[in-house]
Amino acid sequence: MKKATTAIHAHGKHHAQYGEVSVPIYQSSTFAFENADQGAERFAGTSPGYIYTRLGNPTVNALADAIAALENGSHGMATSTGMAAITTVFLAYLQQGTHVVGTDCVYGPTRTVLETSFARFGSEATFVDTADLAQISAAMRTNTCIVYLETPANPTMKLADIAGAAAIAHAHGALLVVDNTFASPYIQRPLDLGADIVVHSCTKLINGHSDVVGGAIVVREEKLYRQIKPTLNLFGGTMDPHQAWLILRGLQTLPLRAERSQQNAMTLARFLRTHPMVSWVSYPGLEEHPQHELAKAQMDGFGSMIAIGVKGGMEAGKAMMNNVKVFTLAVSLGGVESLIEHPASMTHAGLPRAEREAAGLTDDLVRIAVGCEDVEDLRADLDQALNAARPAALVAAAER
Ligand SMILES: *Cc1c(COP(=O)(O)O)cnc(C)c1O
Repeated sequence: MKKATTAIHAHGKHHAQYGEVSVPIYQSSTFAFENADQGAERFAGTSPGYIYTRLGNPTVNALADAIAALENGSHGMATSTGMAAITTVFLAYLQQGTHVVGTDCVYGPTRTVLETSFARFGSEATFVDTADLAQISAAMRTNTCIVYLETPANPTMKLADIAGAAAIAHAHGALLVVDNTFASPYIQRPLDLGADIVVHSCTKLINGHSDVVGGAIVVREEKLYRQIKPTLNLFGGTMDPHQAWLILRGLQTLPLRAERSQQNAMTLARFLRTHPMVSWVSYPGLEEHPQHELAKAQMDGFGSMIAIGVKGGMEAGKAMMNNVKVFTLAVSLGGVESLIEHPASMTHAGLPRAEREAAGLTDDLVRIAVGCEDVEDLRADLDQALNAARPAALVAAAER
């Protein structure tokens, strides 16, 4: 099956009882056994059926199987949030004395959980620019058990070579884990490129409607599933059936939304690079993106996230935020509606400027999450909001 067919039909492994076309919401916390022997068999894993929703539920499993099919994985697991997916993988493999090598500009909480919670339990992490494979190699230690990539990475839109990183990780006996949230399985399938485990925030493109949080873990082979699933069962980061049903509904239109939003993003990136108020544009679809060739080789398209530099820095960035009308000023991404945010004054305002800049988060950076609206409306909105930031940019230039 090709991708769009898979997205629509992959939950078909669910056995309809009444010929229902949509997977029902099995809103039940527990499942009755016909007799004591069947109960014993379910616990022993020798009879298929369900036991208790923290351990498994038909609606939740239908979603996990559908995401696994799209990622070409052997097994999928659905989790309460993207962070539950990420921390479940860490909990399954990290212990006193282990070490992780990760992308320096990963999703903030991923870095924080490694540097605070897991550090507290004696597992260390080194963050490097994973766009450079030599930096990954140099950071590997004998106790490195996970190489963790986010590609494209937030919000700089830098890529990492997944196949190259897999070779390095495997030569050291480590697993390669990839956060595939920014691309979605429609645009990039890391397991096909050698990764062992993929994690997702389903909150973003997979669900696509900014109305639910959720996560997923997909593994390349059954052995990894057997290592991770007991951790998920014990720590309880399980997805709820109603949440799973909403995300299944979103997943079916992922191909349509991903295509539309990445087409819009390409048009907007080309427009933005000609705008007099924009000093730089980072979008993997532009020829001048340093990893444009890698993007063509490992992705099916270039995604819907764009980073730009607005002339006039902090004040101009804020002025732009205050003037958008079609774009919504909000964090998150991957919804049908376009969102915009200014990390230096919003998500990362708490960090000292030097630390922000070390992670590529300059004062002028504006992050644009492109949605599915008519691109002409999006272009006109960005144009007028950028022009409205011109007075702030002139003041900044005069002060300099
Ligand atoms: C949002 C996000 C997460 C965390 O997902 P939640 O669903 O918010 O827990 C992880 N990684 C990336 C790249 C994200 O964008």
